Amino acid sequence: MKESQSNSVATLPVYETFYAFQGEGSHIGRAAFFIRTIGCPVQCSWCDSIGTWHKEHLPAKIEKIPVVELAQMARISGAPFVVITGGEPAIYDLTELTDALHAEGLKTHIETSGAYTIRGEFDWITVSPKWNMPPMVENVQKASEIKIIVENETSIEEWWNEIGEHCVPNSSRDSTPEIWLQPEANRQSPDLFNLITCAVKNHPRRYRAGVQLHKVYNCDMLDPNSKAPISL
Ligand code: SF4
Repeated sequence: MKESQSNSVATLPVYETFYAFQGEGSHIGRAAFFIRTIGCPVQCSWCDSIGTWHKEHLPAKIEKIPVVELAQMARISGAPFVVITGGEPAIYDLTELTDALHAEGLKTHIETSGAYTIRGEFDWITVSPKWNMPPMVENVQKASEIKIIVENETSIEEWWNEIGEHCVPNSSRDSTPEIWLQPEANRQSPDLFNLITCAVKNHPRRYRAGVQLHKVYNCDMLDPNSKAPISL
């Protein structure tokens, strides 16, 4: 077990919380409350959430919020489910948080790179693998959906070679997760869109074309508690 995984938490260091809609994946367009935790050892070069981990962009004061309080905030928002994201939220033991959210009658979703053991009871697991720290097999096997960030013409094939065998029905899972292909935000081009389109057409039961709809709407920023995104 990695050192940072031994901390069971009743409080969480939180970068921001806000109420918006889920902009990606199978729950796209559904109202959701977001809890974005501090910290990410993965440190992708194109990260759009560097405020959560980059030493030059971390908040001067990092707030630790009791998980019970977070659950109450989520319930008061009116959202039907809560997306716990980061940073990399799986560096924390989220069991107490998911227990508190379920006690408030809320569904729990997590967005993770899959590089760390997922601790907590989740109703939906999104694994978005990153080459800096590829995902654990057990996380790919229990993912509800996979979100592949397409950076170039080889991304799709390389990720399928890396994780495809754990995405097909077998003794570890009884169905195939939805695999979303999402263009990396800084490299969007007609060529990249065409590449994704061809992959979806060539593998209609494997892939879905994705987009970050919240960035089109800029919907996160309607909540004053949301912080402006910072990218490298
Ligand atoms: S895993 Fe996500 S939060 Fe962490 S550096 Fe990569 S893109 Fe950013």
